[in-house]
Amino acid sequence: MKEAKKAMAEKGYCVKCKASKEMKDEQKVTMKNGRSAMKGKCPSCGTGMYKILGKK
Ligand SMILES: [Zn+2]
Repeated sequence: MKEAKKAMAEKGYCVKCKASKEMKDEQKVTMKNGRSAMKGKCPSCGTGMYKILGKK
């Protein structure tokens, strides 16, 4: 059970901490250009983070 929850954690780059972090409160969003992205917050400072998905 807890492993499934952990698997959801996506890493993103926080521009404020200048480090890769596991995003908090992440959710999948679709951007205006039709691409999927994960939107979340930095666990350390709360800065919004994005990770583009399905990049080709
Ligand atoms: Zn941060």
